Parts: sequence; structure tokens; C-alpha cells
Amino acid sequence: MTRFAIIGAGLSGLACAHELVNAGHQVTLFDKGRGPGGRMSTRRVATPAGEACFDHGAQFFTARDPRFQTLVAELMAKGAVALWDSSRVRRGKDGTTSPLFDEPIYVGTPGMNGLVRGLAEGLNVRWGQRVSSVEGRPGAWMLALETGAAEGPFEAVICAIPAEQVDALLGTPAPAQAQAANKVRSVPCWAGLFAFDARLPLTWGLARFDDHPVIDVISATLDKPGRTGPAAYVVHARSDWSTRHLEDSADEVATHLLGVLAEVAGLPVEALPATLVRQAHRWRYSRVETGAGQDFIYDAGLRIGVCGDWLTAPRVESAWLSGHLLGAHLTA
Ligand SMILES: Cc1cc2nc3c(=O)[nH]c(=O)nc-3n(C[C@H](O)[C@H](O)[C@H](O)COP(=O)(O)OP(=O)(O)OC[C@H]3O[C@@H](n4cnc5c(N)ncnc54)[C@H](O)[C@@H]3O)c2cc1C
Repeated sequence: MTRFAIIGAGLSGLACAHELVNAGHQVTLFDKGRGPGGRMSTRRVATPAGEACFDHGAQFFTARDPRFQTLVAELMAKGAVALWDSSRVRRGKDGTTSPLFDEPIYVGTPGMNGLVRGLAEGLNVRWGQRVSSVEGRPGAWMLALETGAAEGPFEAVICAIPAEQVDALLGTPAPAQAQAANKVRSVPCWAGLFAFDARLPLTWGLARFDDHPVIDVISATLDKPGRTGPAAYVVHARSDWSTRHLEDSADEVATHLLGVLAEVAGLPVEALPATLVRQAHRWRYSRVETGAGQDFIYDAGLRIGVCGDWLTAPRVESAWLSGHLLGAHLTA
């Protein structure tokens, strides 16, 4: 039995943890978030019309790999995942719509973080604990937490966090892995979160925009399975727009994205239904442009490894596979 620390309890960290725990290892996960989600988070906002629900990171996921399909089927049976039989369209520049891809897509239930929550069940996850450094030596690694506390010793450490955050933790103990992460570039994404006291006049639940100057995707919460509450919408801005407006205030961005949402709905802003929620969330490291080109990295001498979507592709399924394959490698 090996004592593992996993930094990051997003999908990739949890996938790795499951393999290790199933093989009898002792695993402690640390995550700076207050609860499960990572980039599959769900924000809930109380309003006079009930709680509005926003999947402000990933909107949906595919299941193409048979191993991931097996997990999705298990989580569907537990009610943590559902098929999203959405009315989805591709919106052209002139506002015309055409069918978007027709492969099955899935969401966590009752919010996107349902998948991560389901996977975290039964694991030893320390939420709300940000790791600020990894110190010590192979076989006896110590984690320094932001609070000043130290955790360990751990025989092995896995880092399952976005690429841009790897260097701060592994730059000294595992420079080659930090270097691999430093070569990867992620793009930002501003997400607008809006809820109204009535539905907008949109004929689709999910739209991907071609050549729109601001918007990449809009999705309607109530079109997703298992969602209740007021009519809520998530507007994801394009990465180039998000880059140009990266340091704008959330308030400025929310105002701008609300205007664009009204335009898409064919209404002047003043004619929108009463606005119950008007927020913006900045994902500074939303998706990698090009992955590192390998499923995971593990240095058996150092007993340090990395996994996450940045190693292959910016997709839910890729994040899970990266963690799963690293766990399988460590237990082979
Ligand atoms: C706006 C947006 C839209 C997206 N849309 C889609 C989509 O439609 N379909 C799709 O398949 N994918 C989509 N994705 C990508 C998908 O969300 C990611 O690929 C996947 O969630 C990545 O999982 P991960 O475990 O690699 O990383 P994360 O989910 O980022 O998990 C990393 C975890 O590490 C924690 N952490 C970071 N640093 C520390 C630290 N120092 N100490 C402790 N904890 C730490 C974080 O809190 C986080 O929980 C989208 C992502 C974004 C942001």
C-alpha cells in the first residue's frame, strides 16, 4: 500500500484516485474549491422565483471511449448523469440555424457538478485546501497548504490541476513535468450567467455560434434534464473576445453579454423579462489550445505525476481518461 496525495479533485484527479483506491492504496485529495466541480462547476443563486442553476464551465460532454461509456452508464443508473436530448443548433452569421452534431451528449444532474460529486463519494477529499508547495524527497513528500499547515509525508504525489498552475507546485521538485506544463497555453473564457422571470423567445436549448464577434455558445438551463427554477442562461464568450476583455470588471462583462443575449433573442434589453440574476465569471484558464501530446506523465524515481485535460484535449472525457490511465499505470 502506498500513501498518495492528489492535488486537484476535478474529474482527472478523481479518476486517478478511484484506480488507486480500488487497488488498495491510501489516497488523500486536496482541492482549493469549496465543493466538487473544478471546470465542471455549477453555481446556484437564490432568487425570489427560486434557485437559479448555472453550469458555468463545461456545458455537456461526449462519451466516445468504451471505458468512459461504462462509467457514464454507472453514473446514469445512480442519477448523477443524464442524456441531454437538447434542441441544438449552429447559428450562422446571418442568424440562420443549421443542425449541430448529432452524437449523444450528457450532463451531470441535477447540475453539471453531479458527475464530479458522484465520483467524489466515498473518497477522502479535503475541500477548501489550496496547496502552495510540494517539498521533501521521493517517498517522503510534504504538502504546504495556503493556511500554513503542512500535510504528509506522502510516498507519491499526483498533480491534477490546470497546466498554468503546475509550475508553482512542481517547478522545484519535478522540473521536467513543470516544463511540459509551461509549454501548454490555455485560452480564457468569460461566462455570462443570467436568469429571468420568464423564458426568452429562443427555439433551441444549445447554440454554437459561427463567426459571431462575441459569443461562442449559449445554453438554456431549463432545456437540460433535472433542472428546475427560473429561466437561466449561460453565455460563453469567444476566447479572443475574452482575452481582449480579460481584465474588465465582471460587472462590465455581464452588461455587455446581457446586451448580446438580448440581441440574439431579438429583443431590446429593456424588453427582456425581469432580470433575476446578472453575473459574469472569468475562467482564466478555460481550455488548452494544444495539449502536451501524452496521456499523463509519471516519474517513477521522483514518485510524482501529472494528469488532466491539458495533457491531451480540453474535454471532460479527455480529463477523465488522463486520470484513469495514470491510475491504471500506477496499479499495473
Ligand atoms: C468555460 C468552459 C467550457 C467548457 N466546455 C466544455 C464542453 O462543453 N465539453 C467538454 O467536454 N469540456 C468542456 N470544458 C472542459 C472541461 O471542463 C475540462 O476539460 C475538465 O473539466 C478538466 O478537468 P480536470 O480535472 O483536468 O481539471 P479541473 O476541472 O480544472 O480540476 C482541477 C482542480 O484542481 C483544483 N486546484 C487547482 N489548483 C489547486 C491547488 N493549488 N491546490 C488545491 N487544488 C487546486 C481546482 O479547484 C480544480 O477543482 C469546458 C471548460 C470551460 C472552462
